[in-house]
Amino acid sequence: MTENSTEIFTGSFTQQEPIPEEAIEAAVAVMRHGRIHRYNLAEGEAGETALLEQEFAAQVGAKYCLAVASGGYALATSLRAVGVKPGDKVLTNAFTLAPVPGAIASVGAEPIFVGVTKALTIDLEDLQAKCAEAKVLMLSHMRGHLCDMDRLMEICDAAGVVVIEDCAHTMGAAWNGVPSGRHGLIGCYSCQTYKHVNSGEGGLLITDDAEVAARATMLSGSYMLYGRHLAAPEAEVFEQVKYDTPNISGRMDNLRAALLRPQLRGLDAQVTRWNDRYRMVEQGLGDVPGLTLVPRPAAETYVGSSFQFLLLDWTAEAIDAVLQRCAARGVEMKWFGVPEPVAFTSRYDSWRYAPAQSLPESDRILAGIIDMRIPLTFSIEDYALIARIIRSEVSAVFQGAG
Ligand SMILES: *Cc1c(COP(=O)(O)O)cnc(C)c1O
Repeated sequence: MTENSTEIFTGSFTQQEPIPEEAIEAAVAVMRHGRIHRYNLAEGEAGETALLEQEFAAQVGAKYCLAVASGGYALATSLRAVGVKPGDKVLTNAFTLAPVPGAIASVGAEPIFVGVTKALTIDLEDLQAKCAEAKVLMLSHMRGHLCDMDRLMEICDAAGVVVIEDCAHTMGAAWNGVPSGRHGLIGCYSCQTYKHVNSGEGGLLITDDAEVAARATMLSGSYMLYGRHLAAPEAEVFEQVKYDTPNISGRMDNLRAALLRPQLRGLDAQVTRWNDRYRMVEQGLGDVPGLTLVPRPAAETYVGSSFQFLLLDWTAEAIDAVLQRCAARGVEMKWFGVPEPVAFTSRYDSWRYAPAQSLPESDRILAGIIDMRIPLTFSIEDYALIARIIRSEVSAVFQGAG
């Protein structure tokens, strides 16, 4: 079909798919017996939360897993578990979302922002240059784009920098076959409604490090009931940390865990559905003058739950015109270059609790990033139409401006 300026899309970009029946039934069973708190167990019962941890650890091949109240809580807990103290500096991405610098600020530490490349991944040269300034990197795989993880680990290992991965957008993704979250010391995931599995709120933390796992478990509010965890280290490890690890309650409950277990079993199938939709958009936006696609490296197994492209060096007026014209035809997109932060989108210069930093190369890229959610509630044909609409409006504005 050729581009048609009268086509309109009518779907809702924020409509979720329903929770799978199996998950609804499991959640109802929890409500029927009433033992919603993770440590409230009947004789011989493991509990949904402990089972979720055990299953997710097996799924990603980690020794230990802890389920918590949110992805942001998992990030902050990781920082505490590796010993980040008030006043410490923590490296992180300039291109990420507010919960990441927020987690750093929540422990009184200071973010040092590392630049973003046109591939929308962390700038490894900038990282190398800044590695001496901090002992921890909180690496955000923002919008699901993975950098060269082998190279990143080389840089960080050589500098003695501990890596905590923010996998809020990469649950189900991998680099060279290694699941996202398994390169660094700790991997953190979000189970919030807009991520890859949906329990409203929720987070998961994985690690192979016994002391980190024990500290994180105590921090999350295990009291002295850590023996009820099935994906935690031996009691001896807890013995060593239990008197000096504060309880900062942020546990997951059995109701959310019940919702998540069937969804995690279905994750691979969902990834395929996301990627079919993603590729339809990518194909539809090939060779549009003025529009730069984001390349996906062969080593990257990605989850196309959102789509980004660049309108690099366009004026703010022209980008705004594209967004408005697409919105008028039912296609909702977000712009990271917008001067005032809106909805979920904000930029490193909007986090004013952090010391101001200047990253001119990243500013140029951030100013051109356009971002679109890929809801699974739309069909592949819907995405063909969405791509036609974006294509025609980008072309119209580009020609008008040129
Ligand atoms: C959603 C998100 C988080 C944190 O998740 P919550 O569960 O909402 O706290 C962290 N990082 C990124 C990039 C996110 O999008």
